[in-house]
Amino acid sequence: MTVIASNLQAVNRAIAQAARTAQRRAEEVTLLAVSKTFPATAVRAAYQAGQRAFGESYVQEAQGKIEALRDLPLEWHFIGPIQSNKTRAIAEIFAWVHGVDRLKIAERLSAQRPQNLPPLNVCLQVNVSAEGSKGGVAPDQVAGLAQAVARLPHLRLRGLMAIPAPAEGLAGQRKPFAHLRELMRQLNAQGLALDTLSMGMSYDLEAAVLEGATIVRIGTAIFGQRNYGENK
Ligand SMILES: *Cc1c(COP(=O)(O)O)cnc(C)c1O
Repeated sequence: MTVIASNLQAVNRAIAQAARTAQRRAEEVTLLAVSKTFPATAVRAAYQAGQRAFGESYVQEAQGKIEALRDLPLEWHFIGPIQSNKTRAIAEIFAWVHGVDRLKIAERLSAQRPQNLPPLNVCLQVNVSAEGSKGGVAPDQVAGLAQAVARLPHLRLRGLMAIPAPAEGLAGQRKPFAHLRELMRQLNAQGLALDTLSMGMSYDLEAAVLEGATIVRIGTAIFGQRNYGENK
C-alpha cells in the first residue's frame, strides 16, 4: 500500500469515527483531497486508492494537473482566493468553487460558465472568526449575497464554507463551525435550499464533522507537508 493510500484510509476512519460520535452517517461527509502543490502522480495514487474529489488553490497549477489527469473521472473543486482575471479559467475547468465572497465574482463565474456544462456548484465563504484574515463575507452580509447568487443562471448555490482562525482544543474549534451551521439553517429558513457545509481541514476535521460538515477539505493528512518553495 502506498503512503497516500494508507493516509487516506486513516482520514476516512477519522471521518467515520467523528460521524459515529455525532450520530451521523459517514456517507454524509465527502472527503475533498486537497492536492495543491502536489504533482499529478500523487493525485493518481489517491485515485487508485479510491479518492475521487480533489481540491486546488492555484489556477495555473490546477490547469496542468487537470489536463494530465483527463483520463480519470475526477471531480475538481477550486478552494483558493478568486481573482477576477481567473474566473473564466475557473468556470471552464472546475465542478465546484468554494471561496465566493463577492457578487461581482459570482456574476463573472455565471456568465463565463460554458453552456455545455452543468451549473457550477458554489459555496459562499463566510468570515466566522472575528480575527480571521482569510477573506470571506461578514456573517451579517451573507443573506444578501446568498439571495443574489441564488438567482444567477449558471451557478448552483450549494452552501457555505469557512476557514476559521486556528483554535486550541475541540470546544474552541467547534464554535466557528457551529456558527456556520446556524447561518446555513437561517438561510434555509429564508427559502434557500442549501445542502453543503464545507468546513474542516487536517487539524480540525473532528470538530467540523461534529458540527455538521458535509465536505471536509484535507491536504496535509493525505499528501504530507506542503513545500511552497518551488511552487507558489
Ligand atoms: C490548503 C487548504 C486546505 C487543506 O489544509 P490542510 O491543513 O493541509 O488539510 C483546506 N482548505 C483550504 C481552503 C486550503 O487552502
